[in-house]
This record gives sequence, C-alpha cells and structure tokens, in this order.
Amino acid sequence: MLNELIENNMILVLPNNMKENVIKEVSSLDKIYNIKFMSLKELIDSLTFTYDERSIYYLIKKYDMNYDVANIYLNNLKYAVNNLSDKTNKLTKIKNELIENNLLIYDKNIDKLIDNKKIKIYGYDYISKFDLDILKKKGINAQIINKNVLDFNHEVYEFEDIKDEIYFILSKIIDLLNNGVDINNIKLCNVTSEYENDIKRMFKMFNINLNIKDNKSIKSSLIAKDLIDILENNNIDETLDFITNKYDMTILSNKYIVDEIIKILNKYTFVKEKNILIYILKNELSKKHLKEIKRKNAVNIIDLKDNIISENDYVFLIGFNMGNIPKIYKDEDYLSDIEKEKLNIEKSYEKNSLEKNAIINSIKSIKNLFITYKLKTNFDSYMPSLLISDMNLNVIKDIEKKYNYSKKYNELLLSEKLDNLIKFGENDKDLGILYSNRLNDNYLKYDNKFKGINKEKFNDSLNGKLLLSYSSIDNYNRCAFRYYLNNILKITEFEETFAQSIGTIFHDVLSKAFKENFDFDLEFENVTKAYDFSNKEEFFMKKLKEELRFIIDTINKQNNFNSLDKSLYENKVYINKEGNIKLTFMGIIDKLLYKEENNKTYLVIIDYKTGFPHTNLNNTIYGIDMQLPVYLYLAKEGLFKNAEVIGFYLQKILNNEIVRDPKKTYEQQKEENLKLLGYTIDEPELASKFDFSYTDSEVVKSLKFGQNGFYAYSKVLSKEKINKLIEIVKDNIDNAFDNILDAKFDINPKRVGKDNIGCSFCKYSDICFMKEEDVVLLDEHNNLDFL
Ligand code: SF4
Repeated sequence: MLNELIENNMILVLPNNMKENVIKEVSSLDKIYNIKFMSLKELIDSLTFTYDERSIYYLIKKYDMNYDVANIYLNNLKYAVNNLSDKTNKLTKIKNELIENNLLIYDKNIDKLIDNKKIKIYGYDYISKFDLDILKKKGINAQIINKNVLDFNHEVYEFEDIKDEIYFILSKIIDLLNNGVDINNIKLCNVTSEYENDIKRMFKMFNINLNIKDNKSIKSSLIAKDLIDILENNNIDETLDFITNKYDMTILSNKYIVDEIIKILNKYTFVKEKNILIYILKNELSKKHLKEIKRKNAVNIIDLKDNIISENDYVFLIGFNMGNIPKIYKDEDYLSDIEKEKLNIEKSYEKNSLEKNAIINSIKSIKNLFITYKLKTNFDSYMPSLLISDMNLNVIKDIEKKYNYSKKYNELLLSEKLDNLIKFGENDKDLGILYSNRLNDNYLKYDNKFKGINKEKFNDSLNGKLLLSYSSIDNYNRCAFRYYLNNILKITEFEETFAQSIGTIFHDVLSKAFKENFDFDLEFENVTKAYDFSNKEEFFMKKLKEELRFIIDTINKQNNFNSLDKSLYENKVYINKEGNIKLTFMGIIDKLLYKEENNKTYLVIIDYKTGFPHTNLNNTIYGIDMQLPVYLYLAKEGLFKNAEVIGFYLQKILNNEIVRDPKKTYEQQKEENLKLLGYTIDEPELASKFDFSYTDSEVVKSLKFGQNGFYAYSKVLSKEKINKLIEIVKDNIDNAFDNILDAKFDINPKRVGKDNIGCSFCKYSDICFMKEEDVVLLDEHNNLDFL
C-alpha cells in the first residue's frame, strides 16, 4: 500500500494518529522522498486562517467572555457569513474585528508549498462538505484515497460486569502472547472513561504493560494549585522560584507539570492583567493531562476511526454499548441544524449516519477483532450497541471463566466472593473452584502496622522548615497516620467543590463588607468573576447572593450593640517556635473586633461557618476541635500584648431550610439563626463592651443575664478558664511540633466515649486498613470540666 501511496514531491494528508507510523515506514525505505506530511485540519487552516492565544485573550478581555465560549466562537469563525442568522452575523462581526486587529493568522507560504505538488488524502473515514468545498474553491485537485473496506465477520461477547469483560480481554491477550503474538500488535480501542481505573488496575495485576493516558488534569495537581495561589500575590519569577524550591524537581512528574505551566505562561507573556492571566492559566491547565510515559513493549490504545489497522494487529473493541459506539451527535452545537442546512455543512443526523458507516466499515475491515460489551459497572447499567442488530452480529453470552491467568487477581476474586457469602449469603458458582485453588489462607489476615520512617531523613526532607496550622494539628491529633498521608505525603489532590467555592466567596466578601465605601454588588461581582460556574451553579449563586446581602445587613444590625471600634478581617497570624529548624504556627482569623483602653486590648473573635458549626470545645484537651481557642492563642500571643478576651464565637452564615416557628416571621427566624454561637466572659461589664443587649442578647445565642447573674444555659467562662484554655492550646501545639519532628506517624485514631472522632470524615480507610486494636480510647469530657 505504501508504494502506491507515496511518490516524490508530494503532500500526504493523513490523520495525526497515523502520521508517526507512516513517517517511520517511509524513512525505512531505500529511496529518499520529498514528502510533506500534514493533517487535513492543518491543510484547511493553511488554506483559510487560524487563530492563536492573542485571539483568545482579545475575546476574553474585550467581551468579558468565558474561555470556553471564546474558543467556541473561534472554532466557528470559518462559518462566518453575513445575513444568514444572528449567530453567523455575530461570527462575522467577531471575525472582522479580529482581522482589523491582526489577530487571525494567514499562512503566506501555502501557495508556494502546494505549487506543483501532488496532494493525496489518505486514512480518513469521511471528509466534510466544508473541507471539500475549500479544496475546490482553492483549485486543489487532491487525490482522495478511500479506505479499502473488507468484509470480515465478527462475534460479540457479552459480560454481566465491566470487570468480567476486562478479565476476558486480559485472558485473550495472555493467550495471544503465549501463541507468539508481539505485544505491540495488540490494541485496545473505545476505552471510555468508565474503563480507565479498572483497566489500569487489572492490567497491572496481570503484569501486562499498557500505554494509557492519565485522565487527571494538571490543574488538579497540588503544584498547580499552589502555584496559582502564590501567583495571585507575587510575580511570575518569584512564584516559579518558590515552586521549584518547594517541590522536588528531580521527580519527573513535578518537572513536567512546572514545564507545562511555563509553556503556557510563555505563550501569554503579552497579557498584563494578572487576573486574566490566572484565569486563562487555570483553563488551559484543566485541559492538560499528566504526562503519559510510553513504554516500548506494551498494548496500545488506538482510534477506531480515521485509522488503518494492519492485518497483523489484534484489536479489542471494548465497551460496545449503546451511546458509546457509534457516537451520537445531537442538534446542540453552536450552529443549529437549520443554520447548517443553509451553510451546506453536515447536520447532526447526517453526521450520525457518516459516523455509523465509518464504524461499520472499520469493524468489517479488521481481520483480528474481539468485540465486547458489559451490562453494568458499579455505578450504571448499559445496553448493547444498536450496531449489533444493524450488522447482524452474533452475540456470545455466559462465557466460562478460566482461573489460570493471575494468582493475584484470583485471590482478590476469592476474597470478594467470600465477602459476598459471609455478608450477604450469596454463594457464587465459581467460589468452590477459586477456594480449592487458593494458594494460602490469607482471607481477612493482614498486618497494617505502620513500620515508621527514618527520622533523620524525614527531618532533612522538611528543608529546614515546618509549618503547622489548626487543621494540620487537628488532623495529627485525630490520627497521626492521617496527618502523614494528608499533610506530609499530600496524597489527596485538591479540587475545589462548589460548596468550597461558596465558602471562599462568602468569606472574601465578608472580609470587606464592614469597611468604608463597601459596594456589595461590585464586590460580589469582583469576587465571583474568577469562577467558571455551570448554569446550575450560576442559578444557585444568584440565590446565594441575596442570602449574603441579608447576612451582611443582619451583621450590621448586630454591630449596633457593640462598642469595639477596631477590626481585623482575614488576618494571617504567624508564631515562630524555638527549634533546630524554622517552626511556624499560623492561622487566619476571619474577624477580630477590638478596643484599646487603659493599655489593654479587649477583643472578640468570630469565625464564619458555611458548613456545620462545631461549638463543643471538650476535645480541646486532646488537641482536637480547638479552632476557636487556637484563634485566642494567636491573638494573645501574636497580635496584642495585653489582650483581654470578651468572647469567641462561630457564626453560621449558611443555614439549611428552617423549621417554621409560627411566632416569628421568616426574616426573624433567619436573623435568629445568624446569632453568634460560643463563649462570653462571665463579667457583665466586659460583656457589655461587645454586646449592650447581653441581658437578653440580640447578638449571642442563649446569652441572658438576670438578678442571679448569667442564666445557667448561657455559655460563659471566667478569665482564668479562658487563659487556661489558651495554655492547653499552646501545650498541644508544642507537643504536635515535637511528635511530628520525631516522625511519629502511627495509625492511632482516637475514640472519645463511643465516637471514633479520629476516623470521622477521613478518606484513607482504604489505605490504613484500621483495626479495632489501633484505636486509642480517650475519656469523654463535658462542660469543659478540665478547666
Ligand atoms: S481511617 Fe482512621 S485510622 Fe485510617 S488513617 Fe484515617 S483516621 Fe487514621
């Protein structure tokens, strides 16, 4: 085929996924050929125009466009025609503007390049009407070499579960390898997202190399997250210096991430506005994936479409399910089918028919093909592809499993089936075979003890500094191993959820809400602009905006009862500790109200909570749940010398639906829910500095004072007790520094009374395999009885 395809002085247009192999084949020939290789997109772009980063930036800046929307416009610019529809008029307007500003790229050398050259187009299942039209208009008489459609017959294998399907594929691959097939001739196609994790795991267990892309975006990596945070307040050089010092650049994946970030920053050096640069960076990083390390001898994943598959190849077409294959196009593109009709480009139903034919032709043309599908995964049910009836394919069901391919996997299956038998009484028909063939009796036997790490090496890895915060110490005291996984190994990639975004936005706006010249709408707009919300999230944000306006109005009302005339918001406080390396404890106090009087600073601390507010301080004695006391410690130790604490509170700023109280209006109930939750000094004179209404407080929940002093249900503490609480915090912080520097990271979740508070909300039970004997039992305290 190659000999018929190539000739000297030609342009060979072929899909990118075929380029590498064809170039390799051509360069192995004895003769030297002058051939320019291009994809059809590259050829059409050169014959028309294309765009780059400057065009994207222009649309984002000029029209405040979302990054994805800007790309949709740019990708549709080739269909810009006037007076066809509002959308094409808009495209024309944008196109003209980009031309006027020199922001479209025209290939000046294309005429010279194609002059006197034979152009052949090869490997495409179909070529769109638009592309054919461009070739015609430019007078290019390209030779389109259609794929040779053969007529091989195939069967389809049905599996109940996705893991059974993968097991079958692996067993067939092992058979092929045992029969002398080169692993590089074995290919998988149609590997959709629901397969990725199971395929990676099971190929590893069967010791079969597979080249598969990492589906995680670079944006979700800790380095990228860190870099974006730092870039907000520093210049690019400082940010990169910090990141390359903080992370080990000898680790290939770290280096790759930083290199990719630098590449993007280099493309956008002309962007002067930091906020736009960061916005674009986030978007581009979300589309980039971690590097795939391609192994030489491995099974490879290929495209079924726009590809020529050799007769030596053995192809597994997996996930032959409805919706997966063939792909279904709907009338939901930027240009509708009606507009496409007028533009003479393929409408969705035409694309569906082309797609279906392409898949059928590809299937018929592959000699060695295994087609498989599943009926369910752990999360979903699936139907077989409609192509089965269209192509009249024979389906083979109830395929008997042979258990002689992977001892490791057999043991796993045995444990799974034993679990099902013991827990649910399900007796699997294969349980007997697996049980009789087992190699050992390891079921439910394991040693999960953490064997420790080398203290000196660990200390070296800290690069001379250790930074702790309330949450890291909380993690450590709940379970040292949890801290080790989360804070030292950092195994969880941080991806901000919508709920977390709401928290950040609310905190951000509230930190500015009580300053002079605050303009709510303007500030809200400024803060939310950096986020890329879906339509659903936008809808909620509109509602939440009004909630936030109400919260600020209510806090302003609460402030009328308060004589503390100074304030700090989102204040970062650092406290340095003595040690051989730089030991720093830090925290950010949401809101600190204070008054300076007679050489003393009277203060109140308030922490906003969008989630569930935890007001019980009884575990402070164990260094757990000590957020508010930590802020007291930071204020007293790090901010004011002569501080006197009046109160410390949580304020729940987002409440769930309200249980209706017929005696109160909805507004009154909402205001009631915004009352502060926490402790007040038991001295009325001091309490009144913050809350004139302390006798029946309008500001603090359950605070009431009568003839016999504060009511029993009021949460009040004496000065001595508050100071003791702060002392306990200080000791807990010092102990945490000592234990962490001693590399003590045992699996030791704490149970207080009946509650295993160590493991609550911990994501790592799949790693630690915690046993009952790991739990450390602690006495339950009530009413701060340790003070
Ligand atoms: S699940 Fe429990 S024992 Fe395991 S790491 Fe988390 S806190 Fe520690």
